[in-house]
Amino acid sequence: PAPLLDIRSLAISFDTSNGTVDAVQDANLSVLPGETVAIVGESGSGKSTTALAAIGLLPGNGRVSGGQIIFDGEDITHASTRRIVELRGNSIGMVPQDPMSNLNPVWKIGFQVRETLKANGRPSSDEDVARVLSQAGLPDAASRARQYPHEFSGGMRQRALIAIGLSCSPRLLIADEPTSALDVTVQRQILDHLASLTQEMGTAVLLITHDLGLAAERAQRVVVMYKGRVVESGPALEILTNPRHPYTKRLVESAPSLASKRIDIAKERGLDAPELLAADGGAAPDAGSPDTAPGIIEVRNLTKVFKLRSGLGRHTDFTAVDDVSFSVERGT
Ligand code: ATP
Ligand code: MG
Repeated sequence: PAPLLDIRSLAISFDTSNGTVDAVQDANLSVLPGETVAIVGESGSGKSTTALAAIGLLPGNGRVSGGQIIFDGEDITHASTRRIVELRGNSIGMVPQDPMSNLNPVWKIGFQVRETLKANGRPSSDEDVARVLSQAGLPDAASRARQYPHEFSGGMRQRALIAIGLSCSPRLLIADEPTSALDVTVQRQILDHLASLTQEMGTAVLLITHDLGLAAERAQRVVVMYKGRVVESGPALEILTNPRHPYTKRLVESAPSLASKRIDIAKERGLDAPELLAADGGAAPDAGSPDTAPGIIEVRNLTKVFKLRSGLGRHTDFTAVDDVSFSVERGT
């Protein structure tokens, strides 16, 4: 099939008081209809800049200085504001990075959803607002709609932003670090929910993350950015098992995401997922009794296997953590 989003040799520059910053250079990436593609890379590598350009939301001092952005066969690189607004209302949704600065603190959540629905020419009654919010997995949506962002937990704010991003039933959703500020349990719930929603709607997803493990778990294809360039792209499994570029190799080998996964797992243990470890093989950590072992997390022979989507409907196992044992005591 023809790509839904096709970014070709994209270059983006920012004008700053210190001269021109070439934030993105010669970037190529495409997203097929219904597909999830992840952009991975360290902070400052150009992920958000690429995504913002694709939806015509570059900051005022930024511009596309080369290449093309093709959406559904249409060259939108230099599309008019009117056309871009139209696309944002019908075809491309966005979950922006940093929920706090993208939700207006002085407006109730419901009002913000309603404004988006109105701007997109959609029905926007109280019921419509509640339906959109509850679709994104927000409990008690009708009463929650009457609250302000600061009354929401981080996870609920993120769900509200997902609701707003999906409210135009887009063909493409760009989700910029949609869960990076959340603990791993909530992260998983939200990404699971997002995946089933977008699958149901047939929405393609461009998922931005700095976490290679998460990218490989959630996307069919992964695009690795480094210092403003796409240094590698391919099927998720191939990137993990056979990285070619030195930066990707470092990502996989030093595996910051996988190391942090261990901590996450410990956190999960500290919370409430004992069956998770048992289910993954290895002994479930000794739950002990709170009286005899206060604050101790113990992980024994943990093996964590992810199911990777390696193609349409196909799954392959990837062992992210193999036979790990450690313990953490409160205060250490
Ligand atoms: P993070 O993981 O921290 O979100 P990122 O990969 O999304 O990072 P970008 O925000 O796309 O990175 O930034 C890419 C480069 O562009 C960085 O060097 C950044 O400093 C620069 N940049 C981004 N926005 C602007 C701006 N408005 N003016 C000048 N430079 C900018
Ligand atoms: Mg970013």
